[in-house]
Amino acid sequence: MKTIGLIGGMSWESSLEYYRIINEKVKKELGGLHSAQSVMYSVDFEHIKILQHEGKWDELTTIMVDAAKNLEKAGAEILVICTNTMHKMADDVQSNIKLPLLHIADATAKSIKEKHLKKLGLLGTKFTMEQEFYKGRLSEKHGLDVVIPNDEDREIVHKIIYNELCLGNIKDSSKNEYIRIIENLVQNGAEGIILGCTEIPLLVKQADVSVPVFDTTTIHAESAVMESIKG
Ligand code: GLU
Repeated sequence: MKTIGLIGGMSWESSLEYYRIINEKVKKELGGLHSAQSVMYSVDFEHIKILQHEGKWDELTTIMVDAAKNLEKAGAEILVICTNTMHKMADDVQSNIKLPLLHIADATAKSIKEKHLKKLGLLGTKFTMEQEFYKGRLSEKHGLDVVIPNDEDREIVHKIIYNELCLGNIKDSSKNEYIRIIENLVQNGAEGIILGCTEIPLLVKQADVSVPVFDTTTIHAESAVMESIKG
């Protein structure tokens, strides 16, 4: 089994999910008392959030590259960044380390293609919904069409992530807002919905939505396990 290196803390509410899902998947695949070999480097998210909102992406890249190098030194053999947003610097991280980075959008696209879907709604932070690093990768590398909510709804989705979900605050009123926004995307032709922020699966479940949902936390964590245990 290869050692999984996780860059976590963004937020720790979802890193906890990664740890649980990874270990549950290893148990399911290998049985007995098997559990994942892993190392986590967890950052202070308040600091990260401020830099993101100030647009200081170079500083953030340095933080991510340092974290990845530390995981490499600690024996990690596969790298997982436990957030969609911070994949903005995935290419810079990968070019500074030898261990392979398992990209969350690639893992998600694989799962979408297995279901033969083409047009997907994307929910995530405004960075993820609006910038090219994520949507562009899904369309250019994987041939998927991505639709996003309107300006006002993007603002709602973004604020709920940072002001509630990353603080472990799960509210019915916010769930209803997300479901309304998701159903609008479905009206606009989305055949499935990417929960493209690792905290959203804490709020919205498959049972709440009329089309398939792609929970990026579970997809990413489970694909890391499959990579770790493959022969
Ligand atoms: N965990 C979230 C994501 O998947 C948001 C936190 C962050 O900005 O990294 O994008």
